Amino acid sequence: MQISTTANPRPVDDTRLAEILANPGFGQHFTDHMLTVEWTPQEGWHAARIEPYGPLTLDPATAVLHYAQETFEGMKAYRHADGSIWTFRPEQNAARMVRSSQRLAFPELPVDDFVACVDALVEADQRWVPGSEGEKSLYLRPFMFASEVFLGVRPAQHVTFMVIASPAGAYFKGGVKPVNLWLSESFTRAGRGGMGAAKTGGNYAASLAAQREAIEQGCDQVVFLDDQEFRYIEELGGMNLFFVHADGRVVTPETGTILEGITRASIIELAGKLGHAVEERKFSIDEWRDGVASGEITEVFACGTAAVVTPVGELRSPEGVTPAPSSTELTMQIREALVGMQFGRAEDTFGWMHRV
Ligand code: PMP
Repeated sequence: MQISTTANPRPVDDTRLAEILANPGFGQHFTDHMLTVEWTPQEGWHAARIEPYGPLTLDPATAVLHYAQETFEGMKAYRHADGSIWTFRPEQNAARMVRSSQRLAFPELPVDDFVACVDALVEADQRWVPGSEGEKSLYLRPFMFASEVFLGVRPAQHVTFMVIASPAGAYFKGGVKPVNLWLSESFTRAGRGGMGAAKTGGNYAASLAAQREAIEQGCDQVVFLDDQEFRYIEELGGMNLFFVHADGRVVTPETGTILEGITRASIIELAGKLGHAVEERKFSIDEWRDGVASGEITEVFACGTAAVVTPVGELRSPEGVTPAPSSTELTMQIREALVGMQFGRAEDTFGWMHRV
């Protein structure tokens, strides 16, 4: 793929950039550039370009605005102490976007092209990758949408893929803090044959009413259950879950209707290498409650690109509160192993880091 780059960049000035990078927050400030690639059945993927970041002009009849045919990814670029810039398993994000594209009836963007696009934008905006101190990073948001101007319900014949980037502060300022969770007993986010495993906006729209409930209950995130029996744990609004047992076993809900997190997949490999038996299977809400009460479950943690790994505190529901399990030992060990690799402080024994 040939990617052209603007001859007329409009960079944010150094003083403003320094201010932003000192306190980036999340998803508020965007870099100097954006990358765009278009697709039609006749031309395939074409017109790959890096342009100054700015608003899109969309016809009101653009299909994505009506039928939500879109998919996205979330990943980060990290700066190491020597100044080099790295991403974590970008080909896994690319492969997941291919799977999402299959479910959303999109054309597939080849893995190598996805990685080349992300690399090209990070390179163009490298001054936006914060320094490695304080675990800041550049959040990357590749996304694809139905850009055809047509109100018929069918897969779009004009598709746009873009990458934008936004500096992100440390998820936890002043130390890792457990997240409290709200159990949604009236909403699900996915069902058999649905889109749960795809990273598509509709799944996040479906999570918002439950997320609002969670906030009203003083919780950080929602735990979703399966849509058949309201009994088996699926995942959180934006993270996967793991349950550590007293005998060292680690259990995580099986795939099918959940988003297959890249952090989740990495932890399955890492925990195995650390000598833990890992089970991917159905895991019920009763097993959670009883396991914490009996001491059989010693740790519960959530994982995803944003927070990497975070201990789970209380689980609240109309039935009452399940307290935080007793320990966070393996949680913090896994967290440090992954964060260490990402920021270049620990050896990349799996070859997961990709140099931009
Ligand atoms: N589940 C959901 C619903 C998510 O949005 C995310 C974040 N992408 C995850 C799990 C974790 O996925 P990953 O480890 O790839 O960030």
